[in-house]
Amino acid sequence: MPERQRLVPGNVSVQRHKTPQLECLLCQRRYSFAEIKAGNYFLETMICAYCYRERQRAPRASSCFGKPGRIRPRQYGYNPRALECSRLCPDREVCGMLLTGKRDTV
Ligand SMILES: [Zn+2]
Repeated sequence: MPERQRLVPGNVSVQRHKTPQLECLLCQRRYSFAEIKAGNYFLETMICAYCYRERQRAPRASSCFGKPGRIRPRQYGYNPRALECSRLCPDREVCGMLLTGKRDTV
């Protein structure tokens, strides 16, 4: 006799998301493990590649993420010797990977 599908009332939302997903802290979009493996989501920071790309494209005045630091004219950007970039910034790992060439894109 074929196994009948059990219907559990009130359990619809669990069935809809069969694969576990993680949510981006900024845009609340959900990412599956396959998408995370493909590099679309960063477990280190729980922020997605789309949000990081937006921040990388944003002007320096609003985001220093993913931008090389310049001394002249003085512009904020990645500086591995700065306390902010080496210890304090929550995005330091992802930003550092981009600017040291360990990763080409976010
Ligand atoms: Zn996002």
